[in-house]
Amino acid sequence: MSRLPTDIQTGRIGPLSRLPAFFALAGKRAVVAGSGQAAAWKVELLSAAGAAVDVFSAQAGEDMRTLVAEPPDGAIVIHEHAWSADDLAGAAIAVAECDSDDEAARFAAAAHSAGVPVNVIDRPAFCDFAFGAIVNRSPLVIGISTDGAAPVFGQAIRAKIEALIPNGFARWAEAARSWRPRVQALALSFRGRRNLWEKFAERAVVAPNSAPSESDFTALMTQDPASAAGSVILVGAGPGDPELLTLRAVRALQSADVILFDHLVSPEILDFARREAKKMLVGKTGHGPSCKQDDINSLMVSLAKAGRRVVRLKGGDPMIFGRADEEIAACRAAGIAVDVVPGVTTAQAAAARLKVSLTRRAQSRRVQYITGHGRDGQLPHDIDWKSLADPAATTVVYMPAKTLPALVAQACAAGLDPATPAVAVANATRAEERTIAGRVADIPALLAAEVPSGPVIVMIGSVFAGHAQEPARETARVESFHDAPRFSASG
Ligand code: SAH
Repeated sequence: MSRLPTDIQTGRIGPLSRLPAFFALAGKRAVVAGSGQAAAWKVELLSAAGAAVDVFSAQAGEDMRTLVAEPPDGAIVIHEHAWSADDLAGAAIAVAECDSDDEAARFAAAAHSAGVPVNVIDRPAFCDFAFGAIVNRSPLVIGISTDGAAPVFGQAIRAKIEALIPNGFARWAEAARSWRPRVQALALSFRGRRNLWEKFAERAVVAPNSAPSESDFTALMTQDPASAAGSVILVGAGPGDPELLTLRAVRALQSADVILFDHLVSPEILDFARREAKKMLVGKTGHGPSCKQDDINSLMVSLAKAGRRVVRLKGGDPMIFGRADEEIAACRAAGIAVDVVPGVTTAQAAAARLKVSLTRRAQSRRVQYITGHGRDGQLPHDIDWKSLADPAATTVVYMPAKTLPALVAQACAAGLDPATPAVAVANATRAEERTIAGRVADIPALLAAEVPSGPVIVMIGSVFAGHAQEPARETARVESFHDAPRFSASG
């Protein structure tokens, strides 16, 4: 049975509690009613965004007067009387600090009849929009909203992002703005322009704090002719948990035009791709229908020949039971540039989840990965059974599902102790992860009784002694780690 590659729609955006939109206020008029500290902070923000701010307050405080003397950008004028509806005419934005819901309602109504979006500080019922927490690297601006659910949490997230985004990004974003017309004048193709801006982003990420210079600009303009051609990157997606992606894998996903992925790749990982990237499922379920390898190779090559950046996204590590050799050979034969980004292979991830070292001094001297699935779907006939029987080896069986009973029987016949400890791990690192432990001789029956859905590996060796089911207890800690913001450790 074979299937054609499918162009899949990876789902619409989920419900969005707020639409982040960024007001352009330079040279426009902002109205602020009130005189407290909160109002003064909004005046400061609006002036920083370039608005000419009219403040209406009968008793403007010290904070406000200091601002008038030294506005961050747009001029600030205090009108020493309470606001009236006429004051709102022609404003681009209106903010008030009100003492009562009654005043808030009047202010909001006046703003609405003047067609001005309004925010009444700390009275969400009267607001058209909210001010989020801000990370300012202008012209790069990041706004954070929790939809009022947890402003303090929003502040904590802001602090994290502050730490992650180098201050120097402001200069790079400014350089991009000033170079943009010169880049446009080059009249490059879409791909050429995109390559240039990708190179720009790489430079900024590598040297955020060195000021972008004319020589950076010249280097960007010197187009590498090869970069206009397409390419293929084989990327390891790891066993499922997106936290196990490498930074390089994330970068490759974000610059891909087309992503050809296996069933083993979890949907959360595809979320790292650009929304516009085309995502195509190219099969490989093990025993179910799948695309033929030749079809995948030719699809990959033809997309790259058409100038696309193709990411071939594979479960685990591409170099372990992933037919990467055939895909690399196909690219080379077609003269397509090909690269490989390693991933965490299932055996490594499962060992980490079990907290069992696959090697142990003077006990397990060798680790071997084998597949239970031969070219014809049967147990490969040329397995080195003596190696499997070696008590000093740890064996990991990939794709064991169909042939495990025969594999275990033959290994035991070749001298493997039937009492050797073994663990089957299904859906390693995913929410549905399941572990079944026992003697190797019993694992096929235990697995058959459970029939876990999803991929399974079986690990055999004395290092798993005494392991049993115990990791479940520790799961909570690992899961709270999963909840931590992505990449929070860098910065
Ligand atoms: N390149 C992959 C292996 C591909 S072969 C890697 O490095 O992990 C496919 C087999 O990998 C599956 O049949 C299963 O045995 C194993 N596998 C992949 N992901 C898995 C997961 N999350 N949990 C358990 N086994 C997995």
